[in-house]
Amino acid sequence: MFGECHAHIIMDGKNYKAAVALHKSGVKEEVIRAHFRIWKEMGITFVRDGGDALGVSRWAKALAPEYGIDYRTPIFAIHKRGHYGGIVGHAFSDWKEYHALVVRAKEEGADFIKIMISGIMSFDCFGRLTEEGLPEHEICEMIRIVHEEGMAVMAHGNGDRPVRAAIEAGLDTLEHGNYLEQGTLDLLAGSRTIWIPTLAPVGNLLGCGRFPDEQVRRILERQMECISYAFEKGAAIGLGSDSGAYLVPHGQGLLDEYEWMKTAVGAEKEPALKKRLREAESRIKERSRRAC
Ligand SMILES: [Zn+2]
Repeated sequence: MFGECHAHIIMDGKNYKAAVALHKSGVKEEVIRAHFRIWKEMGITFVRDGGDALGVSRWAKALAPEYGIDYRTPIFAIHKRGHYGGIVGHAFSDWKEYHALVVRAKEEGADFIKIMISGIMSFDCFGRLTEEGLPEHEICEMIRIVHEEGMAVMAHGNGDRPVRAAIEAGLDTLEHGNYLEQGTLDLLAGSRTIWIPTLAPVGNLLGCGRFPDEQVRRILERQMECISYAFEKGAAIGLGSDSGAYLVPHGQGLLDEYEWMKTAVGAEKEPALKKRLREAESRIKERSRRAC
C-alpha cells in the first residue's frame, strides 16, 4: 500500500468546522485514534499531515507508533496574517514573527515546516483562486529561512506565479499546485521539488451538488493534463489525497487519489506510475527534518 503524503487528521471529510470544533476545548484523543485505526486496517503505514492550530497533529504524532504508522507533521502551518491558512496554523506579520514560528514548530517536534503561499480554488469558477498568492520575494524569503533552520519546506500553493517562485527558491514539496503553466511544469521536472497534486478533493466533488459540475470538471481535467505532462517530463510526483477535506475520507481518500492519478497518466502506464509514486514517497520520508 502507498503512504498518504497529504492528510489532515484534524478533519473528517464531512464538515471541517464541526470536526475542528470537537478539539476546541482540548484534543479529543478518540477522534484521532479512529482515524489511525482506518489507516492501519487499510495497511497505510506512512502518513504526512498538514498540521493544525489546535495541537491535534502534535498529539497524533505521539499516538502513531501504537498503530505502526510512521506519521510526520509540521505541527502547524504558517501563513501571512490576513491571508489563507487560519484553519491549519498560525500567522506572522513580519520576518521576526515568521522566524519565531519556524523555531517554535521545530521545538514542538515538527518534522518539516509547512507554509501557505496562496489561496485555494473557487470551485464555482474555473481559473479563479480565492487569492492570488504572496509576492515572489516573500515566498523566497520564507523558504530561505526554513532551510537555514535545517528543515524541509512543504508549501500549499496554487497559481502559476507563486508556485514558480517557490520552485525557484528550492521548495521541497509542493501541495496542490493547480493552474500551473507549461514553463513551470518544465521547471518543476528539472527541480528538486516533489509535487503532491491532490486530485481527490476536486474529483470527489463531482455529482455532490455543492458546486457546478462543469466548473469542477474543468478544474480537475486541467490538473490531470498538467500531471500527465509533468509525469512524461520526469517530474517527482507523490500520492497525497488531502484526506479530511470535504468528501475525502481518511483511508478511502488515498484509493480515490490513486484512481484519479491513474486516469491522469493513463492506465497503461500503471507500472511506471507505481514506481514513480514510491520513489517520491521515499524521498519525502528522507527529507523530513532536514533540507537537502
Ligand atoms: Zn491539505
